[in-house]
Formats: sequence, C-alpha cells, structure tokens
Amino acid sequence: MAKIETIGILTSGGDAPGMNAAIRAVTRAAICAGMKVKGIYRGYRGLLTDEIVDFRTQNVSNIIQMGGTILKTARCKEFQTTEGRQLAYDTIQRHKIDALVVIGGDGSLTGARIFANEYNFPIIGLPGTIDNDLYGTDSTIGYDTALNTIMECVDKIRDTATSHERLFFIEVMGRDAGFLALNGAIASGAEAAIIPEISTQVDQLAELIENGFRKSKNSSIVLVAESPVTGGAMGMAERVKNEYPGYDVRVSILGHLQRGGSPTAYDRILASRLGAAAIDALLDDQRNVMIGIKNDEIVYVPITRAIKNDKPIDQELLNTLRRLSI
Ligand code: ADP
Repeated sequence: MAKIETIGILTSGGDAPGMNAAIRAVTRAAICAGMKVKGIYRGYRGLLTDEIVDFRTQNVSNIIQMGGTILKTARCKEFQTTEGRQLAYDTIQRHKIDALVVIGGDGSLTGARIFANEYNFPIIGLPGTIDNDLYGTDSTIGYDTALNTIMECVDKIRDTATSHERLFFIEVMGRDAGFLALNGAIASGAEAAIIPEISTQVDQLAELIENGFRKSKNSSIVLVAESPVTGGAMGMAERVKNEYPGYDVRVSILGHLQRGGSPTAYDRILASRLGAAAIDALLDDQRNVMIGIKNDEIVYVPITRAIKNDKPIDQELLNTLRRLSI
C-alpha cells in the first residue's frame, strides 16, 4: 500500500471530554513516526470549507486536561450527499492528505465508512462519545468523565430527595443506549435506571413502583435515559402523577453539563492509548478500522461492525442494580 506521509485529523458530532487528549496523542505519535499532521477544524465541514492548519507538537501542548475539542466540532449535512463528499475529497487531494483519523460517535464513523468506501481512502476511527454506544470497545473516550459527572450530580440531588422524601427522576444522556443511566445508577446508589434497551420488553415504571418502591421507600432516585423510547424523565414524572398519585415527584434534567469538564485520568489514558494506536494501525496497513479497548488490550474493529451492531447491556449490571436497590 502507498506510504502514508500526511494525515488529517478531525473531531465530529457531539463533543466529549478526552477528545483533546486523543488529538494530542494522534498528532505526537504521527510526528514521532515521521508523518506530517493537518488539523481539520469543525469536523467534516472543515473539509468542505478548507479550514485546515499544519499541526506541530506545539499545537497540541497544554490540552490534555481540557474538555471539548480544540479542533471544534460540527454537524455537516452536506457531507451526507455525494456532492458534499466530492468537495471534501477535492480538499483532501489539494492538501496531499493520505489518511484521515476521525474522532467521533456513531454518526461520524458512519460518514467515515461511507467516504472511505466511496474513495477507497484510508480512515482510522476513534470512538469519541460520552454515550459508550459503539460496538467492539469496552469504553469510549468521554464516557468515564460523563459517568463521574452524573455521579457527583446525583449525590447532590440525593440530599434534597432524602430531606423532602421525594421521588426524583433524573434524566441523563444516552439516546439509544442506557450505559450512562445504568452505571450512573449503580455508582450513585440510585434505586433504578430506566433504559431504552429494556423499555421495549417490560413496563419499567410499573415494575419499579409495584415491586419495590411502594413497599419500602420514602425517597427514591431513578435515572432515566433521555431516549424517546423511555419517554425521558418528564414522561416518567407525568405517568407517576397520573397513575400513582400521592408521590411527591420531581424531575431534574442534567443536560449538557454531562458533556463538559476536564477528562478523568481514565479518559486521558484511554484517549492517549487509542490515539497512539491509530498511528500504529496506519503503519500496520490497517484501513477503515475503529481503535477500541477490550479487556485493557487495544483492538482493531472494522468500522462497519462498530456502527452496525448494537452494543449489548450487560445482564450482570442490571441484576446488580436490582439486588442492591431493595
Ligand atoms: P455523532 O458522531 O456524535 O454520532 P452525528 O450523528 O451528529 O454525531 O454525526 C456527525 C456528523 O457525521 C454529521 O453531521 C455528518 O456530517 C456525518 N454523518 C452522520 N451520518 C452520516 C451519513 N449517513 N453519511 C455521511 N455522513 C454522515
């Protein structure tokens, strides 16, 4: 395969803490390997608008501790059209970029796969999303930080819930995936998590109220994934008011504060390892793979598999939450 001399790097879709640590790792590992690095601003949009800067090691100094992404991120509708992707390819050619490293979630990696196939162009994906919803990796960059933020927020809300003997529904992010809600509930000692993976099978609210809450609890905290499948925290609160009047119900929606903040040590180390491994993968002639982590080992997952398969929720976690919230 042709030697890769210049790589482009971009962050796309929802930002996640640790993206900067990944940008730093990719840039420095590439420079160590003798490659040139071009920073592409605002995700795929930057390829259409030619917002591209030569990156040296100094461009990524003092960013490992920062949340967000110094490359900025954006959503780019034009990249979903063949005309838009042609413009992106023209820019890549002009800048003599031989391969791309794309840091983002499910949507960004979907775009990467389509582009890679269309132009037979080498792309390495890094899982950057707080949702942890990419198949083939135990964790995504940003997930651990978001989980810790949720835990801190729930700890604070618990003080009010306990003092006032209230039932709190706390909405957390995770459109299609309940990892934040489920593990956030375990970490904060909440009574239950209402997650999209289970909502299609049982009425989680009825189960919660009938099986546990009614019998023993005066105050309670339930984490709800924001998904339309679950109805979100507002939907749950409305239902309790209608179906189980008598409870003092409150809602708290954590919203965007879950996305921000300085990444945890875990996310910084994960991003550093995955970023360095992205360059190893290119040197190994790997193409169109997402770099993941499985049992603390770096793995290469074909991008198609990472985005097409649903990452399953671990039954053991569900059982643990159920048993510990009696
Ligand atoms: P995330 O990567 O966080 O899941 P999005 O789903 O918003 O975020 O996707 C980010 C960007 O990826 C989109 O704005 C678009 O530019 C690109 N993208 C998403 N889906 C596709 C697709 N089917 N074809 C081409 N590009 C896509």
